[in-house]
Amino acid sequence: MTMLAACTEQEPTAGGPATRDDNLALGNPSGAVADATQYGNYLLVKPQYTLSYHRDRGTPNWVSWHLSSAWLGSAARQDDFRADNTLPAGWYQVSASSYSGSGFDRGHNCPSADRTGSSSDNSATFLMSNMIPQAPQNNQQTWASLENYCRTLVNSGNELYITMGQYGKGGTGSAGYYTTLSSGHVTVPKRIWKVIVVLPNGTGDAARVTSSTRVIAVDTPNDNSLNPNWSTYRTSVDAIEQATGYDLLSAVSGTVQNTLEAKVDNGPVQ
Ligand code: MN
Ligand code: MN
Repeated sequence: MTMLAACTEQEPTAGGPATRDDNLALGNPSGAVADATQYGNYLLVKPQYTLSYHRDRGTPNWVSWHLSSAWLGSAARQDDFRADNTLPAGWYQVSASSYSGSGFDRGHNCPSADRTGSSSDNSATFLMSNMIPQAPQNNQQTWASLENYCRTLVNSGNELYITMGQYGKGGTGSAGYYTTLSSGHVTVPKRIWKVIVVLPNGTGDAARVTSSTRVIAVDTPNDNSLNPNWSTYRTSVDAIEQATGYDLLSAVSGTVQNTLEAKVDNGPVQ
């Protein structure tokens, strides 16, 4: 009996109730570590999301989070933008006002609406370590519609593993082109990307990813003239890995990664 129970727990299963799973279950894209000497790739683990932070860019390199209906509730949007005082001592702390007047939004990586299970879960998304300077059209149209589509997938019985990141320098917000904000403490990214892995609710998730699992990858310019239709920007995971030097989905078997990461999603867009 005991052995059977242990065996059942380890085997991946589809179906069953939605759960809150490890935000990094599909891997750590840049091998980030919680060591302050690694100032360009510093690991910050929170219950609500996990990220790699770059001290000198004043932004995350990437943020990963798990999304299922178990994370969703009725908590109100807290709107309490604030510095993340869990960064190592002596590091510049980007504040709620660091982007003020720049023409860029404080763009969430892990969205407010993906963490509504409690006020404290929602509040965690307003830490400035979860923000990038994002062109308003990018944030409020293209990105917002992709975030809404993700929650549509969750509402139909799926769980998602999402990683958002950015690279390069220089973007065009509503007040024109900038490379940095806040006296150089914040870098304006050139490109903003996202990778979304879609699985039916279940357990043992990394082992359930197959070469036919749906993976949506997008890479957008940080530009206010962006097309509001996110599907215009679909690309392969391989292209994002090449642009960033990261290894996405590293907890998935190598043969599955090879097939999946070369594909460009052509599934439904709403
Ligand atoms: Mn799961
Ligand atoms: Mn990979």
